[in-house]
Amino acid sequence: RVAVDGLIRHFGSVRAVDGVSLAAESGEFLALLGPSGSGKSTILMCIAGFETPDAGRVTVGDRDVTAIPPQRRELGMVFQRYTLFPHMSVLDNIAFPLKMRGVARAEREARAREALATVRLTEYGARMPAQLSGGQQQRVALARAIVYRPPVLLMDEPLSALDKALREEMQLEIKHLQRELGVTVVFVTHDQTEALTMADRIAVLDHGRLCQVGTPRDLYEAPQDPFVARFIGETN
Ligand code: ATP
Ligand code: MG
Repeated sequence: RVAVDGLIRHFGSVRAVDGVSLAAESGEFLALLGPSGSGKSTILMCIAGFETPDAGRVTVGDRDVTAIPPQRRELGMVFQRYTLFPHMSVLDNIAFPLKMRGVARAEREARAREALATVRLTEYGARMPAQLSGGQQQRVALARAIVYRPPVLLMDEPLSALDKALREEMQLEIKHLQRELGVTVVFVTHDQTEALTMADRIAVLDHGRLCQVGTPRDLYEAPQDPFVARFIGETN
């Protein structure tokens, strides 16, 4: 389980996150959905520990991690793009989080290969990131995020740089992986269709505030306010 409680993060006069309380239950796929500038990434960065909230708490499992540095929060992360180290092979990229945790070389390599197989790129371990397509690079980023089996995966628009066909393929793959690993996922997107098809529950954000949290069906059939109705209704 991962939760934020009374989260506030302002940048000068901009209320990026303006009092948000929200939780992804264990094994749940929670989407953070909202227009550009609604505070999605800031919430995710506060969960990850790369942003410090002005107020509020972040908990992972039953641990309050608000004051704990990012590398000790045991979270896997995948971002929109440019997330691989360009000077390292695919396998070294994936093994990196294990190296940071002091895992011995042989075990690092075995686990990195296993993670690479999970994203169906077994034969690409020796390549450099620049020699992969965008979708393959995102799969490597995903492998790197799951290699130390974190209980929680945070993803910030991981598919938005991909073309439609690849995006749909990766959506299925991420869902499959989430179920297989039983991992809790917090997934940021501004794409209504992506949220509706992938998420167990969706949190709709606007101007740093939480408008509604519910299942795709709840939001579709019983939007709580005009903003949610209009935003969800823009699905194409
Ligand atoms: P997008 O869909 O465009 O990625 P978002 O929902 O992820 O948007 P955030 O990146 O969380 O939105 O930004 C929320 C608000 O906070 C925006 O108005 C943004 O300009 C502002 N903001 C975010 N980070 C900073 C920062 N480091 N300094 C100043 N303002 C910031
Ligand atoms: Mg963002």
